[in-house]
Formats: sequence, structure tokens, C-alpha cells
Amino acid sequence: MSEKLRLVCSQCQTINQFTPERLADGPKCAKCKQALLNASPVEVNAHSLQRHIAHNGVPVLVDFWAPWCGPCRQFAPVFSQFAAAQPAIRCLKLNTEAEPAAGSAFQIRSIPTLALFLQGRERARISGALPPQQLSQWVQQQLG
Ligand SMILES: [Zn+2]
Repeated sequence: MSEKLRLVCSQCQTINQFTPERLADGPKCAKCKQALLNASPVEVNAHSLQRHIAHNGVPVLVDFWAPWCGPCRQFAPVFSQFAAAQPAIRCLKLNTEAEPAAGSAFQIRSIPTLALFLQGRERARISGALPPQQLSQWVQQQLG
């Protein structure tokens, strides 16, 4: 028997549980029927950010950004591309201007900052607008 994998729905925030083998079948939310794995980054607020970090059985990568930050806007398409290529990594975007409490809770001192969480714990973080290849390499290093 394999252990259940948990995924937080990015539409309705329901915590779904299923066997890891079903991850490849494009699992859907039991409540709202939306796909649980997203091909694009999900905008979160302080509350849903905590929920995603605590209850996702897949790695969670968070882009802490702000609309006034030029490098953040440059990095946005790189992050979107990464999310499309890595559906089994939950990619989230937290707007630190709209959600300043979340920014300070995670002690975000410069933006963009990327933080990677595994099983509810922060594994690593890096600041600056990474080019695509460097982003994939950095994530692979942390997960490998
Ligand atoms: Zn849902």
C-alpha cells in the first residue's frame, strides 16, 4: 500500500488526497473538479500560501514579487515557463505589495525572492531574477 499524496486545490483550497500513482493521470479536485496540477503559477494570498506550504505533497516553489519591481516583471515569464514544464511542482506567486504581512512573515528582504518548500519546511531560497536555465538547475539541486 502506498502512502496518500496530498494536493491543495488552487481554485477552492480543498485538500485532496490520492495515491501517488494517480499523479500521472491528471488528478482533479474532488470538490470543484478543476485540475489539481497547474501548468501556470497560482496567485496566492497570505492565507492560501500557508495552506499550500503545509498541505502539498509535492514541492512548492514561491515567487515573492511586487508589481513595482522591474526585475520581478522580467522574471514573470521565466517563472510561467518553468511552471508549464514542471506540473508536479506547485508554483505560487505572492504579491508582497498586496500581502505585506506574508512578506514579513517569511522575512523577504529583497524581491524577487524564490523560496522552495518541501513537506511544510523551507528547503532553500534565492534572490534575483534567474534566467530559465539557472532556475531549473537551482530547483534540481535542491530536490536532488
Ligand atoms: Zn477545488
